Amino acid sequence: MKKIAIVGGGIGGLTTAIALQKEGFEVDIYEQASEMKAIGAGILLANNALQVFDRLGIANDLLSRGNKISKLYIAKPDLTPMNTTNLLAFEEKYGVNNITIHRADLQKVLLSNLGNARLHLQKRLHHFRENGQVTLQFEDGSEAMADLVLMADGMWSRGRNLLFGESQFRDPQQVCCRGVADFELPESMQNEFKELWGLGCRFGFGQINSKEVYWTAKMNIDRPIENYNRKVLLEIYKDFHPLVNQMIESTRMEMIHRTAIKDLTKLKTWHRGKVCLIGDAAHAMTPNMGQGASQSIEDALLISQCLKNYSTETAFSEFEKIRKRKVHKIVRTSWLLGRLGHVKTAFAERLRNGVMTLLPEAYNRGQVKFVFQLAEVSK
Ligand SMILES: Cc1cc2nc3c(=O)[nH]c(=O)nc-3n(C[C@H](O)[C@H](O)[C@H](O)COP(=O)(O)OP(=O)(O)OC[C@H]3O[C@@H](n4cnc5c(N)ncnc54)[C@H](O)[C@@H]3O)c2cc1C
Repeated sequence: MKKIAIVGGGIGGLTTAIALQKEGFEVDIYEQASEMKAIGAGILLANNALQVFDRLGIANDLLSRGNKISKLYIAKPDLTPMNTTNLLAFEEKYGVNNITIHRADLQKVLLSNLGNARLHLQKRLHHFRENGQVTLQFEDGSEAMADLVLMADGMWSRGRNLLFGESQFRDPQQVCCRGVADFELPESMQNEFKELWGLGCRFGFGQINSKEVYWTAKMNIDRPIENYNRKVLLEIYKDFHPLVNQMIESTRMEMIHRTAIKDLTKLKTWHRGKVCLIGDAAHAMTPNMGQGASQSIEDALLISQCLKNYSTETAFSEFEKIRKRKVHKIVRTSWLLGRLGHVKTAFAERLRNGVMTLLPEAYNRGQVKFVFQLAEVSK
């Protein structure tokens, strides 16, 4: 059986390791961090991700630590709904839910299901060379060999740069602050994820467990990113529904994370020789659809199926062909959603809100149907 190296122990790398070792591959994960600390608050995992986890036998564990989300809402700052998507039909069809979960809980579940896969910490990829097999060279001077390598080292992937040179990114000039508040939403909101759209800013939130709420505040950048502290956020969102300020106030400062939003310009190809990119390294997207991790998780299942069924070269080509069809559409839609969510004039805001209110739920369900449908390998 082939020996596979995965560079990067994030959500994509760990899920891929679980999927590959279940297929009987020998798997080593090389992660640059010296310990596995989950950063970045909570996360929304969509039905497509849960379908993958269901096949890997860990969906119930995740659901028991997270919270079921059955309705997505886009609303005005005062909570007046503009656009809703009921997810019940998809829950029935696929037998799994969308969930919100603390990133630390997601990571715990992934780490405890690695099976035979070995995780090596403090292994920061420096270089690699192909010589029949692939030799990875790490910054500490050590080396490791594998039959093939999956680069799951995220948006700023060193592996991608080594394969294809410097990458290009698109910059919408937006920032995303994320937090976990010690907070309980009213009963009627506990299984919904809401996003309130204002002028140049949005605020999304959902309960992640019985005592915590995950929120995201996305804004057009108008100051250095490190200056988006609690006081600034309270000022920006002061005219939003009082719940918003209550959530921000209930969040410890160290639980607020800031990220400048970017996405990766489409790559011509994701693989060369015995090395292939997966997850954000291949298709990092803006966080407007809450699909980045879910797409990495889909990659995990498909690459394991492809490697089980085909030679390495065919597996990489099939994987790329099948996944690109879906993921590029999601990258595009996510980008456009970000533009729409951050209009800069009151006139554009009124126009946008009018359109959002008129969109029928059947339209939303059509979009979601495409996103939730997993691609399979034809055997
Ligand atoms: C603000 C924000 C909110 C988001 N919200 C959601 C959401 O709600 N739902 C959703 O599905 N997605 C969301 N995402 C996207 C999601 O976080 C990413 O798509 C996902 O984490 C990608 O997983 P990955 O494993 O490909 O990369 P990463 O999670 O970035 O993991 C890469 C790993 O590689 C390691 N690494 C990096 N370089 C090296 C090296 N040279 N050598 C060895 N190891 C290395 C890193 O330490 C890291 O552990 C959000 C993103 C942002 C920015």
